[in-house]
Amino acid sequence: MDEKPPVVTEIGFAFRRSYILLMIGLPLLTWYMWICLIHNSGAFIVPGTRQEWADLASKLPPPTFQAAALYLGWLLFQALLQHYLPGRVVQGTMLRDGTRLGYRMNGWLSFWITLGAAFLACWLGWIDPTILYDSFGPLITVSYIFTLLFSLYLYFLGRRSRNERVTGTPLYDFFMGTSLNPRAGTFDFKLFSEARPGLILWVLINFSAAAKQYELHHAVTTPMMLVCLFHLLYIADYYFHEEAILTTWDIKHENFGWMLAFGDLVWVPFTYTVQALYLVDHAHDLPLYGTLGIVALNMAGYYVFRTANIQKHRFSRDPGSLIWGRMPAFIQTARGTKLLTSGFWGIARHANYFGDLMMALAWCLPCLFDNLIPYFYFIYFTILLVHRERRDNAMCHAKYGKDWEEYTSRVRWRILPGVY
Ligand code: NDP
Repeated sequence: MDEKPPVVTEIGFAFRRSYILLMIGLPLLTWYMWICLIHNSGAFIVPGTRQEWADLASKLPPPTFQAAALYLGWLLFQALLQHYLPGRVVQGTMLRDGTRLGYRMNGWLSFWITLGAAFLACWLGWIDPTILYDSFGPLITVSYIFTLLFSLYLYFLGRRSRNERVTGTPLYDFFMGTSLNPRAGTFDFKLFSEARPGLILWVLINFSAAAKQYELHHAVTTPMMLVCLFHLLYIADYYFHEEAILTTWDIKHENFGWMLAFGDLVWVPFTYTVQALYLVDHAHDLPLYGTLGIVALNMAGYYVFRTANIQKHRFSRDPGSLIWGRMPAFIQTARGTKLLTSGFWGIARHANYFGDLMMALAWCLPCLFDNLIPYFYFIYFTILLVHRERRDNAMCHAKYGKDWEEYTSRVRWRILPGVY
């Protein structure tokens, strides 16, 4: 048998104290929010007595055959698109053993073909446009069961591979994953899960919620349109710049296990759609100044987010390409790579996160202020990105040592200059 590379310390124990809590709490939270939205008009349910707890538990959605068929059919359809549609093959970043993996970039095509097929199927009457909204609860349960089984498969796949990266604590390794890029042949499980079924389902669930609002109120309100369009823009933009995913943290550094699989396949489609779900029963309108303010916030956030990400991506491919009309400044690290200090990367270490947070807020504001649940995304995302920035900072410090210290002394702010 080939010798396995040494255990990688960078996966470390970032979630060491909380991973069991996360594995139990995140699925429960996903169900809980749906129950509040569907059964309590979007307000928190706070059970006090035993009976109230029992009532809450009785609302947990069991899996249904229809939801299972819908979900598995969906995964299969997306997998076929990823595998068979044409696309440019782009080399990923260099791996530990000096090789690179090829990734076929056909997400843009998959996205539009899927949207086109979904609209056609609804228009022809083959599928009810509200099906995703109506099956939302059972779909959460089915996708969660699938994720558990899938993560188990990934665990053993990673353990058998030459590129195994484990900490030695089996449950934690199940949570974090046991290898970086698990594949079956050329089919990359991580890229697929990160980039396909969850993201496109997110957009389709929003549209299904809009269809439900129309069915109930005979109109699609401005807040619903804003939420649907903002999310459509975010996802379409993602596919337009699909190649940029290859230089993101998840693809480059994160093992693929329960944490990412749950995030990609359950969390994203079933919690990022909270605003659209909420708006089904809250068919209010917005004053013009409110609409314009929210659009301006979203587009400003989009500009910061997109420009920062593109600056780093272009720089990593071509360090000579101009940033804001000038040659980029950088720190040459002892490891051989360069740390960009121009553009947004000279203003804050993660201005891209700030842009993302501006958009997150713009997505919640159309829901107005009666309930907190629609703001879940903004609150959760702030926690996620602050935690992520700290993990990234620790990892870059371990990797680049003094060069990273020089970078952080030149670029003091982590996310938002003057604040954090
Ligand atoms: P980044 O794209 O910011 O990547 C961080 C990595 O970039 C570091 O590990 C390092 O990797 C490299 N790097 C850091 N500083 C520099 C520099 N100055 N110059 C060159 N390279 C540098 O992080 P993420 O992958 O976390 O985020 C990508 C985007 O995805 C963000 O816009 C974020 O907001 C978004 N996102 C969205 C989520 C969602 O659920 N909607 C979830 C998470 C992220 P190396 O040393 O290997 O080059």
